[in-house]
Amino acid sequence: MTTNPFHLNFDDSYAQALPELVAASLAESAPAPQLIVLNETLAKTLGLSASALQTEQGIRFLTGNTEALAKQSYAMAYSGYQFGHLSPVLGDGRALLVAEHLTAQQQRYDLHTKGSGRTPFSRRGDGKAALAPMLREYIMGEAMHALGVPTTRALAVVATGDLIHRTGAEQGAVLMRVAASHIRVGTFQFAAMHTSPDTLRRLADYTIQRHYPALIGCDEPYLQLIQALVKRQAQLISQWVALGFVHGVMNTDNMTLSGETIDYGPCAFIDAYNPKAVFSSIDHSGRYAYGNQPAIAQWNVARFAETLLPLIADGAEQAIQLATQAVDDFATEYQEAWLNTLRPKLGLHSPEASDTELIETWLYLLEQQQVDYTQALRALAPAAQGNSEALLKLFRKPELIDSWLKQWQARLKHDALTVDAQVTAMNAVNPVYIPRNLLVEEALSAAVRGDLSVLERLMTVLKQPFTEREGFERYSVGAPAEFGDYITYCGT
Ligand code: AMP
Ligand code: MG
Repeated sequence: MTTNPFHLNFDDSYAQALPELVAASLAESAPAPQLIVLNETLAKTLGLSASALQTEQGIRFLTGNTEALAKQSYAMAYSGYQFGHLSPVLGDGRALLVAEHLTAQQQRYDLHTKGSGRTPFSRRGDGKAALAPMLREYIMGEAMHALGVPTTRALAVVATGDLIHRTGAEQGAVLMRVAASHIRVGTFQFAAMHTSPDTLRRLADYTIQRHYPALIGCDEPYLQLIQALVKRQAQLISQWVALGFVHGVMNTDNMTLSGETIDYGPCAFIDAYNPKAVFSSIDHSGRYAYGNQPAIAQWNVARFAETLLPLIADGAEQAIQLATQAVDDFATEYQEAWLNTLRPKLGLHSPEASDTELIETWLYLLEQQQVDYTQALRALAPAAQGNSEALLKLFRKPELIDSWLKQWQARLKHDALTVDAQVTAMNAVNPVYIPRNLLVEEALSAAVRGDLSVLERLMTVLKQPFTEREGFERYSVGAPAEFGDYITYCGT
């Protein structure tokens, strides 16, 4: 039974289980809150009342105000390696865990604000967020969800009526984010560095119960937690890579234990295939480049494994050996996940030993000729049916893919699926539409001027990315050269 108008079935299991990892904190009151977008589909999925969320009280709730619920909200503690450097205390500096919500199916979600004001972890920050980056998180999360990638999602973005100071004055906004949880690798680092072994164990047990219940009662649950995270992150990163997604800021505080993508800051999708692609203005060394993401994920998992050593195998040396093995296994787990994700994109279903080489040659050809990654994959379906025109048009020197094309077409013929079935399957995994950089920027600049129609139009294709639509041709191609090199910014 719920007793609030939003049908929120709230529960504070995290704060109750781990009080030493949260700091009680309330959202700042927004001077003139205005609902910019409400994700009604998500509200419905969660069993929340979309109409109640649009009332004045509902909009206040979406900015993190919990007065109507008479409940405490919390800033969560975490640490993190940021670009490889340890920040021993980070935590929610502009975010709050407003409530956990249990759906009718007993699925547990965090409702979490971003931009809701200062907290005990704010350090010198203002605790605020600007409208455009919050809408960006909304767009990217919905796009990723529609593309089948595990991700946090935005429930709403509310403009606060505040003016906040970045490079100039900008409209303040609060994002309400829904996540399987906000437990991060950085949460474990915080527990390991600043609390007791008992807290660390309770955090691990809580995480297992919430995200890996199959491990309850196992002989070595904490070692298996590392193995399970290795698998989940290998799977997640393979999906990013298969779609051309660059997260941009894979710090350990931005890696979840649930295996969901989190924190859409300086992220972007590649146009031309380029393993070295970097969009973030501060990633000078290319640490978080497109092609470096699997290696960084493994590095992050190693930092996670380190935190759990005191809980493994009752002895330092053996614990290190076991945890190291689990982290080393990331390479094979990733290779397998990558192959399983890429194979169907090329129409291949019954595995063959030569598949890896076939895929790698394809990627090499795309890289050499700077071909649009998303368009090229989508053009493979007609090429499988013998019509290679759209594909060849993407290459400056189409003659150079001739031999690969013949080899691939021959390979398709001895696959288990018929050509028609291959084509249907390819079109279900190779999107027509991704949130391309120019389109996202256009939607955001219109939105900050008060025109949401551009964003709404973009969302119609991003919500069904595998369905080609008439009238949306420019949404399926890369930006013209005038758009220039795309640069993204974080922490805004
Ligand atoms: P992010 O780049 O969003 O992952 O944030 C990294 C860290 O900086 C987190 O601890 C955030 O809470 C904190 N942070 C980012 N922006 C602000 C801000 N405007 N005020 C306070 N803390 C912030
Ligand atoms: Mg973060």
